[in-house]
Amino acid sequence: MSGSDNDALVIALSKGRIFKETLPLLAHAGIEPVDDPESSRKLVLDTNREDVKLLILRATDVPTFVQYGAADLGVAGKDVLMEHGGEGLYEPVDLKIATCKLMTAGRVGDSGNDGRRLRVATKFVDCTRRFYAARGEQVEIIKLYGSMELAPLVGLADRIVDVVDTGNTLRANGLEPLEHIADISSRLIVNKASMKMKHERVKTVIDDIAEAVAQRG
Ligand code: AMP
Repeated sequence: MSGSDNDALVIALSKGRIFKETLPLLAHAGIEPVDDPESSRKLVLDTNREDVKLLILRATDVPTFVQYGAADLGVAGKDVLMEHGGEGLYEPVDLKIATCKLMTAGRVGDSGNDGRRLRVATKFVDCTRRFYAARGEQVEIIKLYGSMELAPLVGLADRIVDVVDTGNTLRANGLEPLEHIADISSRLIVNKASMKMKHERVKTVIDDIAEAVAQRG
């Protein structure tokens, strides 16, 4: 099986929130997984349709699998897509799920402007560089892979850039949200070659999912 294989349609998803919230949208397109990824160790899930498979990936890898055609379609957060760059992909539908905001945050009451160059810890290195560059601010970016909230508490960084939903995680760690960088939601993405080569089937899935999003309101 591969995304370029003409008889299988391959859809890349990540576990957790995106998978749960994408399920009803896929169901509207007549696609239902046979296995539950939370209890199965399988990374390729069969569906009720012989010609449709689901790949279970790390969220940050979904655009890469779709870009290279290892999957025809995928669901990825806008944060992940902005960081990936979007080459080789169409982004036809905003699924309006897993919504949050990409924000800067710092220690409560810390103005951070003592003239020193700000140190910013994040896993969103490119988004962070673009955000501060657009403001003409020179910052030092420290790449982390998780637990960004810890960085300002232990003096590793003055600021973090992270996705924020309720803000509870920030508050629990003595941090506050500062600047809004982007609104985030999950997007349906499509490999550009698959859009041509498997046009009928890909277009039907896109239209059915777009209809499900519109009906949900
Ligand atoms: P919060 O509700 O702001 O406390 O967010 C809880 C945790 O989930 C934080 O670590 C956020 O970075 C993360 N988070 C919130 N919303 C999303 C989302 N839509 N996608 C990925 N991570 C998220």
